[in-house]
Amino acid sequence: MARPGSAREPPLLALLPPLLVLVQAGAAGAAGSVRLAGGLTLGGLFPVHARGAAGRACGQLKKEQGVHRLEAMLYALDRVNADPALLPGVRLGARLLDTCSRDTYALEQALTFVQALIQGRGDGDEGAVRCPGGVPPLRAAPPERVVAVVGASASSVSIMVANVLRLFAIPQISYASTAPELSDSTRYDFFSRVVPPDSYQAQAMVDIVRALGWNYVSTLASEGNYGESGVEAFVQISREAGGVCIAQSIKIPREPKPGEFNKVIKRLMETPNARGIIIFANEDDIRRVLEAARQANLTGHFLWVGSDSWGAKTSPILNLEDVAVGAITILPKRASIDGFDQYFMTRSLENNRRNIWFAEFWEENFNCKLISSGTQSDDSARKCTGEERIGRDSTYEQEGKVQFVIDAVYAIAHALHSMHQALCPGLTGLCPAMETTDGRMLLQYIRAVRFNGSAGTPVMFNENGDAPGRYDIFQYQAANGSAGSGGYQAVGQWAETLRLDVEALQWSGDTREVPGSQCSLPCGPGERKKMVKGVPCCWHCEACDGYRFQVDEFTCEACPGDMRPTRNHTGCRPTPIVRLTWSSPWAAPPLLLAVLGSMATTTVVATFVRHNDTPIVRASGRELSYVLLTGIFLIYAITFLMVAEPGAAVCAGRRLFLGLGTTLSYSALLTKTNRIYRIFEQGKRSVTPPPFISPTSQLVITFSLTSVQVVGVMAWLGAQPPHSVIDYEEQRTVDPEQARGVLKCDMSDLSLIGCLGYSLLLMVTCTVYAIKARGVPETFNEAKPIGFTMYTTCIIWLAFVPIFFGTAQSAEKIYIQTTTLTVSLSLSASVSLGMLYVPKTYVILFHPEQNVQKRKRSLKATSTVAAPPKGEDTEAPK
Ligand code: GLU
Repeated sequence: MARPGSAREPPLLALLPPLLVLVQAGAAGAAGSVRLAGGLTLGGLFPVHARGAAGRACGQLKKEQGVHRLEAMLYALDRVNADPALLPGVRLGARLLDTCSRDTYALEQALTFVQALIQGRGDGDEGAVRCPGGVPPLRAAPPERVVAVVGASASSVSIMVANVLRLFAIPQISYASTAPELSDSTRYDFFSRVVPPDSYQAQAMVDIVRALGWNYVSTLASEGNYGESGVEAFVQISREAGGVCIAQSIKIPREPKPGEFNKVIKRLMETPNARGIIIFANEDDIRRVLEAARQANLTGHFLWVGSDSWGAKTSPILNLEDVAVGAITILPKRASIDGFDQYFMTRSLENNRRNIWFAEFWEENFNCKLISSGTQSDDSARKCTGEERIGRDSTYEQEGKVQFVIDAVYAIAHALHSMHQALCPGLTGLCPAMETTDGRMLLQYIRAVRFNGSAGTPVMFNENGDAPGRYDIFQYQAANGSAGSGGYQAVGQWAETLRLDVEALQWSGDTREVPGSQCSLPCGPGERKKMVKGVPCCWHCEACDGYRFQVDEFTCEACPGDMRPTRNHTGCRPTPIVRLTWSSPWAAPPLLLAVLGSMATTTVVATFVRHNDTPIVRASGRELSYVLLTGIFLIYAITFLMVAEPGAAVCAGRRLFLGLGTTLSYSALLTKTNRIYRIFEQGKRSVTPPPFISPTSQLVITFSLTSVQVVGVMAWLGAQPPHSVIDYEEQRTVDPEQARGVLKCDMSDLSLIGCLGYSLLLMVTCTVYAIKARGVPETFNEAKPIGFTMYTTCIIWLAFVPIFFGTAQSAEKIYIQTTTLTVSLSLSASVSLGMLYVPKTYVILFHPEQNVQKRKRSLKATSTVAAPPKGEDTEAPK
């Protein structure tokens, strides 16, 4: 059988002298070790002490992570040695060292394991050592040959040690190191572990985060292989899975400066919505982060998701329970080993002398002082009696990875057993072939083991030396929670997929509802997500305002023209349609005016018809008067058309009659004023009357003037048949609630004015003639009242135009315009009626005595002015 490391003999030999110096230095500085004698010796590495501060290698004792695990190895060795079926006749010894949770320190310590191999090679020099006087040199007990190493805890320590152990071909099995890079079988070929690598753990964490509905979390890692690669795996898996964003990735330095943890908390609070904190840190860092969170008054703010180094341990949260409440932690699937509990609880100072750190543990655990001879304890601490019992005088809960320590020891024992069976068949005790155990061969036996571990579950390794990924998920709950007894409660499991009992979760504030860790809260109805660039979990909510509605999560769109958004802007609904109704307050004044006006007109017409042959009626020029009164009546009547529901017929009626009444009236008035003017102009020059002053020619003139309007409107009707439209623009108010579609005729403001334009032209011309004829004697003709009528009408229309166009932007436009138009029309009609016909009607009806020929007075009056040759008043000669 080849000697260990024979394949690497040349480089190793070259290394020997410097290594020897190192080993001796290491051994000199060693803080002691636990030694168990045996035929085959296993090495063990345990973080019995924490990392020391301020230049000291070692710090406080780690009761659980250190002492429980170390004792677990001693317990496992006892059991193996007591088992006649396992390695019969072979006693397993041990050399257990403290790593002080520091990789460099652990490396120095671990050189002890290779001491025998190096010194074995240095045997040739032994004869050279001579003491004066020929006394044989005093030699320390020869270092035992370590066949395999159990450990270490921290991945960085395991990695450091693995680099040395592989040089000397010493297999190593870790019970706690989970960093993914240790799976690399080309670099760490002698390394195996009974715990799963963190690639699984990171997946489990991503699954937990997603199961809780979180999408925005921060990560916190201790500097070193474990923390950094754990977080790296988490970030990568979450990125691949999608839907989880990392707010902050914070690294805690290996040697944190004072105030470092307050800074960490401050940074975490820069993204306060990321309440979920994924924490891959060592025990001490976890403790200090929790302390800093409490100091910053943030108890209950953070939702911790702790990795296996938090696990179900008491030490990281001791006296910080309130800050830890709600934390979800992960631990490789394990069972509590009853045998170990019994063993450990019965350990006493008397029966556990082999553990050199046990006295220190005793003092820490029972908070007392052991006064050793010669040293006087000057502090007031209680003196230990030695009668204290673990679990009775102190709380005791088995550390989470005790099972794995036992499994690691058993894995080596089983491998050695198989090797023993192969190399020393049928023999009890070691045979020479076994005495110089070959590390490579042992590694093969280790990788091949398959047995039921201390928890009853199978222990085996895959080709990388990893255990399968199975985890238990715990939540740290408050003791006074509404259900459960507090402490770490199992809430789920992970083995490829997550099974999380969300019902069993409790959160600070005793709520059952899972608190959120989201960058942005979901948007309300009618709001769209406006994504923040580069962070797919963050967005702003933007309300779909105005006439926009929410089409999908990310878009707002304008409603179609005839629709307006629903109240919550999630859809569109038809805009209500309005029109001027008979009952509207806007319609009341015009209607009243129109009714009164048409009644008055009817009365006048009736009176005139009845007294058709009386002087007053005759004197007012009957034919034109009837035309004028028809015009006035039409003007009043248009109000009803303007208020009526728009349809094709009503719209045609509006076009036709809107201008017709006024055209008729003003044509008639113009004909009248023009005639008076012509008669008097002619009268100044000669006695012959001017042409076209007979009633027939008057009517012809009037109707020809009117026909222009009728022809125009007819042409318009033919070119563009009328119909009603719904105008959604007119009442598109800023607030869509007020928006209305207006049912109206397809008549623009301009065409409306166009309708009236011609009559306005007539009116202006008529006014001009009225002004010209103002010198005509008052008693003789109608020139004066016509003049007044025209001035008033002009004023009314002058006032009307700005109101009409000034309200074009108003939401009430349709009402205001219809009302002003109809009222203006009615007023101007009333002015004509009132000025020209009411006084006459009054006289006809109430003073019939005045309704007689006034020939004399007229003649007298006309004698001063050039009077018409004959006839009554302005009445033209027949
Ligand atoms: N899994 C951790 C690491 O690899 C160690 C956890 C522990 O010691 O409980 O560093």
